[in-house]
Amino acid sequence: MKYDVIVMGAGHNGLVAAAYLAKAGKRVLMLEAADEIGGATASVRAFKEYDALLSRYSYLVALLPDQIIQDLGLNFETISREVSSFTPYKKEGKDFGLHISRVWDKETEDSFIELTGSAHEGKAWQEFYSEVEKFAQKMAPTFLEPLRTRREMKTLIGQDSTWEYLVEKPMAEVIQSKFKDDLVRGVVLTDALIGTFASAQSIQSNICFLYHLMGNGTGEWKVPRGGMISLVNELERIVQSAGVEIRTDAEVTQVSTDSVGVRVQTKKGDSFTAEFLLSNAAPAHLDRIRGKKSESALSGSQIKINMLLRTLPRLKSGADSRRAFSGTFHINESYSELEDAYVTAAKGEIPKHAPSEMYCHTLSDPSILSEELAQQGYHTLTLFGLHTPAELFETDPESSKKIAVQRCIDALNSYLIDPLESVLAKNSDGSLCIETKSPLDLEKDVRLPGGNIFHRDLTFPFKEEGDAQIWGVETDDPRIFICGAGAQRGGGVSGIPGHNAAMAVLAKG
Ligand SMILES: Cc1cc2nc3c(=O)[nH]c(=O)nc-3n(C[C@H](O)[C@H](O)[C@H](O)COP(=O)(O)OP(=O)(O)OC[C@H]3O[C@@H](n4cnc5c(N)ncnc54)[C@H](O)[C@@H]3O)c2cc1C
Repeated sequence: MKYDVIVMGAGHNGLVAAAYLAKAGKRVLMLEAADEIGGATASVRAFKEYDALLSRYSYLVALLPDQIIQDLGLNFETISREVSSFTPYKKEGKDFGLHISRVWDKETEDSFIELTGSAHEGKAWQEFYSEVEKFAQKMAPTFLEPLRTRREMKTLIGQDSTWEYLVEKPMAEVIQSKFKDDLVRGVVLTDALIGTFASAQSIQSNICFLYHLMGNGTGEWKVPRGGMISLVNELERIVQSAGVEIRTDAEVTQVSTDSVGVRVQTKKGDSFTAEFLLSNAAPAHLDRIRGKKSESALSGSQIKINMLLRTLPRLKSGADSRRAFSGTFHINESYSELEDAYVTAAKGEIPKHAPSEMYCHTLSDPSILSEELAQQGYHTLTLFGLHTPAELFETDPESSKKIAVQRCIDALNSYLIDPLESVLAKNSDGSLCIETKSPLDLEKDVRLPGGNIFHRDLTFPFKEEGDAQIWGVETDDPRIFICGAGAQRGGGVSGIPGHNAAMAVLAKG
């Protein structure tokens, strides 16, 4: 056989797997269905008349272990944000904002007191997140090791009460017991919901929370310098120098295995054989190609809005826009608003008070703009709207998208002096520089099943007793492994399933 391993899909995880395998001496072929590699880690010139390279889908990085960057020799940098988050709110007819710095400081403390009238919530915040960070520091390194069982993981971490509230009981319980303020509760809850259609009452929200807080043991979400494309470019450089063959416009449509190896066929009719197949495609797509029935999974539940601005809008609260938008800017994300939005969406309606969060990449990293645009004060904004599951868009995709976008804009505008429409850049035909991706668009553009950004429901990063999985990448066929977000410990921009699938293959000799 010409190849040892075929990797189906060249998202960042497929590239990570290929890099580890090729560096270990394996002959690797990558088959990517799209014209470009990178999958959901793409950057594009979304508005053709402007030289601005936006991270079209994923936009911040926390989960990619430093170890992978070092092992592969990636020249990829992420930038810390001084402001962690800013949440505008109204009290007695006036506008304010809850400012939270990345490192606890006087401004943060005062901001909590301004919101709640006492130091209690600020103290509770520091205690809670220091427990979570201790937990993360023990759990994160295990992501690049064979799976532990639930019991082994609990013993390793050794924080039984934290384990109880982060793993065993729904997030609602710990949030309600530790925090009293609805807005503060909401800021905590958002990390349990991003990309996941769940209520705080569901254990699914705990899993999502763990993924969002575990990255590199700190859970810090950083800005990729140069945008997401810089990660893909670096991975491409590494795999090519290691001799990996990449074919684009090569959708795999058939896979079969026997005692000798695996054979794949592409839509164009080419066929290839190898000892092993790694699937970077979502498990549901792999099942379909293999003619198998898939487990049911949650669909995606977010809309992503990418924008180019002539200038940053001013805030009614008087806060400096350059600081407020550099962190995560929460809109309609109090605890009760999030829970109400979930209930409304679950009934099949687009939430009226659309919860979303937003950040400005160019405040941390102007390199994604041409010098000319940067000098003129242009900025990008990335909005991620929650609780908008794929089902809400099915009957009338375009009208539903318009409604969802308008609700997000209206919510944001209620905190702005300058309405968003007045600061958005315009194309020469007068249209505004704003693009929206619904879950249905994500299915069509990047093959995410139902628009699920994690390929399927996230699962805890440990296994139950009796589970035969070793790396969380194994399938029912010993020649086929999952190397993408759909593996256990998979979702997000992490490279972890790519690394783990490569380790599973290398263990076979
Ligand atoms: C809107 C949005 C925002 C997000 N924001 C963030 C964020 O800020 N931070 C973060 O960590 N994560 C974020 N995510 C999640 C993250 O982007 C994904 O979980 C991650 O990129 C998945 O990477 P992957 O390599 O496993 O798969 P993908 O990037 O999905 O790549 C899979 C590849 O396989 C190819 N493929 C599929 N089927 C076939 C086939 N039959 N033959 C050949 N090729 C095939 C696809 O074309 C694709 O290129 C976001 C995702 C979305 C959609």
